[in-house]
Amino acid sequence: QNVLMWFRQDLRLADNQALTAACDWARENGTALKAIYIATPTQWQQHDVAPVQLDFIERHINLLAQGLASLGIAFELIQLDTFADVPKFMLDYCQQHSVTRVFAGKEPEINEQLRDQACIESGIPLVLTDEHCLLAPGSVLNLSGGMYKVFTPFSRKWREIAARKAILPLAVPAPLGPVINEPQQLTFINTLKLSSALWAAGEGQAKRLLSEFIQQKVQDYKQDRDFPAIDGTSSISPYLAIGVLSSRQCVAALLHHFPEVIVDDTSPARTWLNELIWREFYRHLLVAFPDLSKNHNFNRQADKVQWRNNPDEFTAWCEGQTGYPIVDAAMRQLNQTGWMHNRLRMVVASFLTKHLLIDWRWGERYFRQKLIDGDLAANNGGWQWSAGCGCDAQPYFRIFNPISQSEKFDPDGSFIRKYLPELASWGIKQLHQPSAAKTPSLFEAPLFNTQTAYPSAIVDHSTARVRALTVLGVLKKAA
Ligand code: FAD
Repeated sequence: QNVLMWFRQDLRLADNQALTAACDWARENGTALKAIYIATPTQWQQHDVAPVQLDFIERHINLLAQGLASLGIAFELIQLDTFADVPKFMLDYCQQHSVTRVFAGKEPEINEQLRDQACIESGIPLVLTDEHCLLAPGSVLNLSGGMYKVFTPFSRKWREIAARKAILPLAVPAPLGPVINEPQQLTFINTLKLSSALWAAGEGQAKRLLSEFIQQKVQDYKQDRDFPAIDGTSSISPYLAIGVLSSRQCVAALLHHFPEVIVDDTSPARTWLNELIWREFYRHLLVAFPDLSKNHNFNRQADKVQWRNNPDEFTAWCEGQTGYPIVDAAMRQLNQTGWMHNRLRMVVASFLTKHLLIDWRWGERYFRQKLIDGDLAANNGGWQWSAGCGCDAQPYFRIFNPISQSEKFDPDGSFIRKYLPELASWGIKQLHQPSAAKTPSLFEAPLFNTQTAYPSAIVDHSTARVRALTVLGVLKKAA
């Protein structure tokens, strides 16, 4: 008789409730514990998982296998094609290995939930723990027992509940047996990957980033977090997205240095805690409203929006060729590194959906295809918020001005210069608003009088603003 740990979006040994439960079960029942991860390349393609994220996952699978070997737990990488292949595989596997319990962590996305449901219906003895959030979806409800549709009351209730909870991350389980041989290099087959080497891998690395951030930067987070040239945010999103780090570990680390953070509104660490709560809000929404996983507008009034969806303009946006340096530098940061600063995610999302009137789903999909921290709940939430059709969204008539956003959040142009080196010699005024220079298709770099192949603005800000207000006016009633 065996017990099985099935890793999914929880690629860690520490604070992993499913792994701890599996180890406890094995110890109490004197059974052996095996661990697996199931690669599903075709499913990943259908979900538009970014090649850089798949590379990051593969690196963590290898580290996980090493860590498990040191605990005496054998690990196997299984290669299937789609989620549809999983129930039959699991049934056969459980029979062949006499597995009587399978432990795994719940996932909030609909296809993942349906896969688990199909496994349970096929008779697989699957035990699911619910810990992709600190407070499980369905446990933070309004007075009528429903899910909140506005962030502020959700966060208040979240804090009320969290304040009464002991927030104690679980340790790495004790070894179950002697160290076993480390597995050979594990590789996903039939999977397009792109190097994630810019991000150091491992639970230790993730914890280091977290603790350095909390000790050195969290106090200034409120002032610094909107400036992409400043390294003022935690950069832990790639680790949270694949579960190398848990939400409970983040909140516990924060409480260690700021014990008042949950109850005291004036705590210097409160702004950052709020961001973790936004993450939980979007995950709770995904579970409460499964249509979100299918990319439906949260506000169905938005089904009436007549998006322009010009493919050439979309390509220009993707490639960072809109003629608005702040937008283009941001898109190049995404294309080159697989990550983008939050302020810029808001700026480029607003630009795509409002200035270009391109359906938010196009941008959401492009982000998923590129982001190392791609996460359906946060990405869907962020895009719908930006487009004005989401839950507790930015109102449709609030349209970011890319010129003033640039002046405000990259005042000396250093972020723009980093990602648009061809504009390095431009003066600061032109860097924020090149169309002020008014050359039809090419702008002249003023200092050296050399021509820079940088496109003219794809759309005039004021004209685009008026157009967006007219088209998005269908959201008026619901706003
Ligand atoms: P910090 O500012 O240090 O915040 C700490 C953590 O809180 C983050 O790692 C993240 O897990 C969470 N968080 C912060 N802001 C948000 C937010 N607005 N919504 C939800 N969670 C948040 N985040 C993703 O993890 N994956 C995505 O695919 C994603 N897509 C986005 C798309 C758009 C259009 C927008 C506007 C935001 C998106 N975000 C996404 C949220 C946010 O931009 C990133 O989480 C953040 O930039 C990550 O950097 P950090 O780890 O330094 O964050």
